[in-house]
Amino acid sequence: MTFPFDNSYSRLPDRFFQRIAPTVVSGPQLIRLNEPLARELGLDPEFLRSPAGVEILAGNQIAEGSDPIALAYAGHQFGNFVPQLGDGRAILLGELVSADGQRRDIQLKGPGRTAFSRQGDGRAALGPVLREYIVSEAMAALGIATTRSLAAVSTGEKVWRETVQPGAVLTRIAASHVRIGTFQFFAARGDVEGLRILTDHVIARHYPEAARSDTPELELLRAVAKAQARLIAQWMLIGFIHGVMNTDNVTISGETLDYGPCAFMDRFNPATVFSSIDHAGRYAYGNQPAIGLWNLVRLAECLLPLIADETERAVPLAQAVLEEFDREFETAFLAGMRKKLGLASEEAEDKELVNGLFAAMYQGKADFTLTFRRLGEGLDNPAGEISLKELFSDSAPLEIWLAQWRQRLERDALPPAHRGEAMRLTNPLYIARNHLVEAALTAAATDNDFNRFNELVDVLAQPFTEQPGKEIYTRPPEPHEQVLQTFCG
Ligand code: AMP
Ligand code: MG
Ligand code: MG
Repeated sequence: MTFPFDNSYSRLPDRFFQRIAPTVVSGPQLIRLNEPLARELGLDPEFLRSPAGVEILAGNQIAEGSDPIALAYAGHQFGNFVPQLGDGRAILLGELVSADGQRRDIQLKGPGRTAFSRQGDGRAALGPVLREYIVSEAMAALGIATTRSLAAVSTGEKVWRETVQPGAVLTRIAASHVRIGTFQFFAARGDVEGLRILTDHVIARHYPEAARSDTPELELLRAVAKAQARLIAQWMLIGFIHGVMNTDNVTISGETLDYGPCAFMDRFNPATVFSSIDHAGRYAYGNQPAIGLWNLVRLAECLLPLIADETERAVPLAQAVLEEFDREFETAFLAGMRKKLGLASEEAEDKELVNGLFAAMYQGKADFTLTFRRLGEGLDNPAGEISLKELFSDSAPLEIWLAQWRQRLERDALPPAHRGEAMRLTNPLYIARNHLVEAALTAAATDNDFNRFNELVDVLAQPFTEQPGKEIYTRPPEPHEQVLQTFCG
């Protein structure tokens, strides 16, 4: 089968990437295919499931029209600049333009070594591939901008990490894989021409309206800042912790990228960190907006030579654009919180109301997801309110807050009869809780049992709809089930 690839990135100059084919693997087997996504991309699910399709998804065969490349990029990792990172374990097969005009990257993650692999093997272990599949698709179902997972295949190869693990390849779909780190790659080399070509590419691809401005680079910065502010607000609204917000993991498109050590918070605590390598809590839940801005300052630094000939002139222009970030974030976050609390009108004191709830949740060690869900369920149902209070080890601050919230609801424009349903549609019941993800990964890697993985993916596809018989997927972990650390894989 021919994929109707149109490979705009591989038409860029050679220094943007390495042309490289995936490494052949011994025993590819399909674990899961995302059929709706395949159809959205204009690909035939029947073909992708067939042996010939699986060969392509494993990297053993190159589809006609594909021009496989590994992309060059740099990045700040935990605040330290690394001038060359690049796709060390990923290969871009090509780009597909779907019927609605959306251009998307088709990338294999874990297809073997590239020029950017350094000491790494270029492979992916089964666990991290399944984690990315589960969480990226869960995020998409929650309506959050994200890269997607088209397929997971096992390779039949062994991968050496702390222990020997089964190997796997993920097919990742993205609006593009251009990151802040891609700009840093050229900036670090003083390659202003490269920066210009990259800028033109991403403006045409993601922000075509910026091209019509007299200052396209500033408009690009503004658009990326806006997209990131909104994205991070969405993460905060569902208790998502990305875990590795290095500049090489921050997309220009505004999609969530890199599901390495990510996790959802159970109990509300802004200091929550899961990543085993984030010792200082740089990427803790509550730090995400500030880090988002820090990352955008790194992008602005790269764009300075394109913004104006003299740095002294470019800096204040870029600064003025980035000053909008905090307001953009606050606005998106507060708008989302109003929805979560069943509010349709805006009042100046809403921010205080929100902070009051977070203070009560913190003090009561309450589960983030269930608190919001049960707030809605308790609206006109005493049993719902009891189960809300049960989430709090100390519910006294909650009781005070509930009285304030009820007063606020009285003044609100949303008809009370619609409030419960509105809250159900914005406060998920099912999230990719860490202990559920871990259990699914363990069953797959140690027992070759993919039932838990498949069931979890299915449940998370409808996060707002109560599903009979799936109660275990709603529950926070018992103390013995708690998973406190995640790993980059
Ligand atoms: P990440 O922590 O996933 O953002 O990856 C950081 C860098 O390390 C990227 O350049 C990756 O391509 C590279 N990398 C991570 N794991 C491997 C691996 N197993 N083999 C080769 N490169 C890797
Ligand atoms: Mg990465
Ligand atoms: Mg990663």
